[in-house]
Order: sequence, then C-alpha cells, then structure tokens
Amino acid sequence: MSGSPILLYDTTLRDGTQREGLVLSLADKLKITRRLDEAGFPYIEGGWPGSNPKDAEFFDAARSMTFRHARLAAFGSTRHRANRVEDDPNIRALLEAETPVTTIFGKSWMLHVTGVLGATAEENLAMIGESVAHLAAAGREVIYDAEHFFDGYKDDPAYALATLRAAVAAGATTVVLCDTNGGCLTDEVAAMTRSVASGLGVDDRPTLGIHVHDDAGLAVANSLAAVQAGANHVQGTINGYGERCGNANLVTIWANLALKLNLPTEPAGDDLAHLPDLAHFVAEVANIAPDAHAPYVGTSAFAHKGGVHGAATVRVEHAYQHVDPALVGGTSRLVVSELGGRANTAWRMHQVESLAADEIDPAELSRLVKQLEADGASFEGADASFALLVQRHRRGYVPPFRIVDFTVIVERRNGSGARAEASVKVEVDGEVIHTAADGNGPVNALDQALRKALAAFYPALDGVHLVDYKVRIVDGEAATAARTRVIIETGHETGTWTTAGADANIIAASMAALHDSLEYAIWHLDARPERLDERSSARASIGMLEAAVEPS
Ligand SMILES: [Zn+2]
Repeated sequence: MSGSPILLYDTTLRDGTQREGLVLSLADKLKITRRLDEAGFPYIEGGWPGSNPKDAEFFDAARSMTFRHARLAAFGSTRHRANRVEDDPNIRALLEAETPVTTIFGKSWMLHVTGVLGATAEENLAMIGESVAHLAAAGREVIYDAEHFFDGYKDDPAYALATLRAAVAAGATTVVLCDTNGGCLTDEVAAMTRSVASGLGVDDRPTLGIHVHDDAGLAVANSLAAVQAGANHVQGTINGYGERCGNANLVTIWANLALKLNLPTEPAGDDLAHLPDLAHFVAEVANIAPDAHAPYVGTSAFAHKGGVHGAATVRVEHAYQHVDPALVGGTSRLVVSELGGRANTAWRMHQVESLAADEIDPAELSRLVKQLEADGASFEGADASFALLVQRHRRGYVPPFRIVDFTVIVERRNGSGARAEASVKVEVDGEVIHTAADGNGPVNALDQALRKALAAFYPALDGVHLVDYKVRIVDGEAATAARTRVIIETGHETGTWTTAGADANIIAASMAALHDSLEYAIWHLDARPERLDERSSARASIGMLEAAVEPS
C-alpha cells in the first residue's frame, strides 16, 4: 500500500446536503460536481437515486458529462429484508443511475440488524452479500459502507468483521468503516481500524476506507488516525457540511494528509493552492457564509492581530504560523486595528494590491487609522475598506462613482407590513443617474437602488451580492445616540470581501459600508465603465423606472 495515494471520496452532494438549511438545486449539484472533478477528486458521490426524484434527475444529467478525474458514485442501501435482490426497487434505482461506482451501506451492529431492520444476523449477512454480488455482476465498482461499524465492533467484533467479509467475498473492492453517530474517540478508531487492517483474513485485501461524523468534534482527527492505522480511502465533505454537527471536513483532512503526514493523496498535494477557492466556491453555491476561522482556508487562518505577534511576523514570517500559507493558496495577513502597532499597518499596506509603497507614509496612515477607529470605524475584519482607504490616498486614484445624495422612506399604512423605498443619485464619468427601488428594509432598498444605478455603467457588478450584514453599537452607554458600526460581507464567484461603515445614523453607516463594498468590487473586478453608446439602452430602462416612481 505504501506509495499508493490516499483516495479522497467526496460525499458533499449526498451526506453534505443532510445539513439543516443546506439545499442544492440540480444545477448547483452539477456545478459542484464539475468543480470537484476539476480539483482532481477520484470519487464523487452524487446522491441516493432510490430516495428522491432530484437525485435520480442528477444522475440522468450527469450521464452526459465527461469526467477528467472522478468516478461518479450512486449511493443506496442493501436490499430490503423481504425482497429478492433483482426485484428490490432501491437496488434497481442504483443500477439505473448507470454510474461506474455504486456505494451501498449495510448494517454492522446487531442493535440495528434486529432492532431497526427486524432481521436475523444471518439474514443481514445474506442481504449484504447478495446486494454486493448483484451490483458487481452488473460491472459496477462496489464500495461497501459499513454503517455504525465502530459501535458494532465494540458490541460484537466477530459479527462486525463478518459483515465486512461478506461484502468482500461478494466482490466489494473497498470497505468503509463508518462512525455514523460520530461519537468515537481517536484512540478507539485507531485501534479498531488497525485490527481490521490486519485481521480481515481475506485473500484479496480490499481498499480500506473511513467515514466519520463530527459529533464529538473529532472527525478530522479520527480520519487521520484511521489513515495512520491503515485506511487508504477517506470519505468526507467540503467544509465539513453534514447532518447534526457535520461530516469529516475533507478540506482540512487533505491539507493535513499532504502537509503534516507527507502522504501522497488523490487529488494531489501540489494542488492544495486551490483549496481556499474550492472551499469558497462550495460555500457560495450552498449559500452558506464561508467560515472565516476555518483551518487552512479561512480568511483569518493566517491573520495576526496582536502588536507583538504582528511585529514578530514582520521579522520572521513563520514565527506564529504552523505552515507556509502559500502552500494552501493563502498569504499571511496582519489585522489592522488599534491593538496593532505601526508594523501591522505598514506591512498590511504593502500587501494591498498594486500599491507603490513609497507613495504613502506608514506612520501617517497608522495615525489616520487610529483616528478613524477612535471615531467608530473598524478596519479590523474589514480588509476591503482598508484596501480602499490606502487606494484613495494614492495619487491619481479616481473613484469609479460618487454618491450625490440618497433618500430612504420607511412606512407602514393601514396595519399592513412595513415597506421601504430608497432613491439614489449617483455620478459616474460626469453623468448623473437617479434610480429608485423597493426593499424588504431600508438597507436592502438602498442596496437595490445603488446597484441598479451602477449596473448601467458596470455590468460586471451583476454577479456581486450581499452575503451578510451586521450591526454593532460602538458606544453602548449613549444608547440610541450611540455610534453604529455596520459590517457588510459581499460575495462574488471570485471571493468575498468585507467592508465597514460607522456613523451615529444607522442608515448612513450602512450606506458607507455599501459604498465601500461596491467601489471595492469595481476595483477588484477591474471593471471599466461601459462607453456612452453601449449604455444607452440600460439608461433608457432606468429612465422608465425613474419615471414610474415619480409621485403622481
Ligand atoms: Zn455519513
């Protein structure tokens, strides 16, 4: 086994979608499949065709895709106790999915065999063996997931091993040990995996897999321990999405296998630089805010805040880092705040794209940041606002637009729900445009109106959307007269960025954060205003909207 890569098996599309609140459309699933294949995953589990029509549709659509790396797997259970395998609807749906790989799960734990399935120990072994044999005879690569394997093994090791042997004897080429309830400790997983690796007693040794859930917060550790104990196939999901507390996070596992255990992996360890993009892409498609503190890929993963850490990091970059961030496509980052000294500000400034370092004096900028933060601004966690602050200090920087004025009305009439309407006047390239929009709240209405105005000039803003909006009161003592700090996270398929605004007025603070967000988007996407003749039709449609909101 030494030298052969550890195979990563992605089950985001099946187990990952068990996460509460995570819904993927057919188009979303196909997008993620394409991306995982590009990333080099050897296996992608697409869903459970026997369980719902959406998954069956997915396999219909996936049939016409060509894969560069991945083998697509359909997932399902062993035959029902009372069915003949050839008549079992679930097994039929698996074959109809026409995937090269079929992954079926069966029971390893007598509690489930008798208590849940109402089967005898012998019946269960027959269900496993016949199901695997039927699928293998149809030419499928069969992966056998031993559900509750570790709990079953603790209860009755001989029987748990007998279920694996039944699968292997029937033609399963991979058997996967599952900690379905996610409650095992790491030393237990290591010991039981080691005894399976050495004691299966079959002629053709199968590939040994691990599939764990994170209910005890140990899914990554348990997956790594299983690999060290002899497993060479690891199942998990991107960003650890999954039921309850989640599945094992394949993103973290992949980085650890390659960088900490120095093991060959498939996808290969040299591709780790794309890891943040992949994690981010799946979060975007799943519409889940990316975790800034995720190991290796979070925006805070290599961010240093304290003044001492900051100064040390400037001198010796790896002083407070466990790996070189460049290996996982990241860069060290110093958090700009009143906690950080001049070194933080200067160093962060050097990292701002296309910045000529000698144009701005770090000491002057540091003073300005402290002054602005004293007034309630927050550049900490608002890197895009900080980048703009530096950018705006550069000679020759021309802001891509100017907000001339804005109005927001919030009203509630005749006991109906509150509604908000905003109008914005924006100047771009010497031209002033006036737009209005409704929203479910004042900030949403302002965002819509501002975006509508700018979209006529910068169609690239189409793919930019609000991800998160947070409000904090800076000076709690002053209650409603306090300064408000608004933090906005904005997303685009190329990344997310955070901007902040502060003001005594919550709407003005929100508008400042929105302004930064869209100005940063235009800069970041390198968008140029469309020429006058190109935008006449867009102006015409906006003109109509403007006329439509004129009071009658
Ligand atoms: Zn699972």
